[in-house]
Amino acid sequence: MTALPQAHPAPPAPPEDSLIEDHNRRLEQLLEQTDLEGMSPAAVLGWADAQFPGRAVISTSFQYSGLVMIHMAAQAGLQLRWATVDTLRLHPETYAFIKDLEAQYQRPIEVHRPDPDQVRMMVERHGEYLFFDSKFKQEHCCQIRKVRPHDQLLRGAHCWIAGNRRDQSGHREGHTPKGSLVAEYGTPRKILKLFPMADWSEKQLLEYMEAHQVPRHPLYDQGYTSIGCLICSTPVLPGEPKRAGRWRWFNGANTAEPADDKKECGLHYSI
Ligand code: SF4
Repeated sequence: MTALPQAHPAPPAPPEDSLIEDHNRRLEQLLEQTDLEGMSPAAVLGWADAQFPGRAVISTSFQYSGLVMIHMAAQAGLQLRWATVDTLRLHPETYAFIKDLEAQYQRPIEVHRPDPDQVRMMVERHGEYLFFDSKFKQEHCCQIRKVRPHDQLLRGAHCWIAGNRRDQSGHREGHTPKGSLVAEYGTPRKILKLFPMADWSEKQLLEYMEAHQVPRHPLYDQGYTSIGCLICSTPVLPGEPKRAGRWRWFNGANTAEPADDKKECGLHYSI
């Protein structure tokens, strides 16, 4: 059995309350004054590193975009944090891949996990496989296993960098600005959320990966187009939407919505 990557210690402490207003104003001004839409992904990453030294984090589940951003950050010698959430239900290939990446880039990847007591209570109440029961229970599972650890990952961060792209789903096409502000969970402190790869196509990503020998998650070779938890992410058949493999049993549950729309775990809904 593959050993789990090491969990990361607590992220940096958030700023004092008295500084939050100034912090929020600074982020608003930066967002207003910076033409993020006109910048390349590498330029956005370099800009974030310079603006928020030690306080900007690439959060990734090791899909193409995240891997390309990690490669760009490594090539440029940026000090961005690299972090992921281990829901404790990832594929064995993902655990092994994290270790491979750490070896290749010679630096650790922060791994953030759910609160064991919250997982235990959820499973006792709803069962291990609650996500089959309803959309509500699937979202509850994602909250406990993914969103809350991710909130911890963002504690103290000023800038959250994720790999969402507009061509991934109908929903993301209209909801993926390169820069926006979100609130840190449970506080009025804002975080600048960046999607540097928003306007890249899958073709561009694959060309970059091939040209630069970027490591590729092994599940892509098994037909996956989206990497997530065991059972909840599955390979996609030719012609299916890219996110059709996520929570497959909900496909067609509401025929008014395409199979790839609103297939989200909650991380990228407004908070
Ligand atoms: S993807 Fe599935 S197993 Fe993973 S957190 Fe969401 S509902 Fe739970």
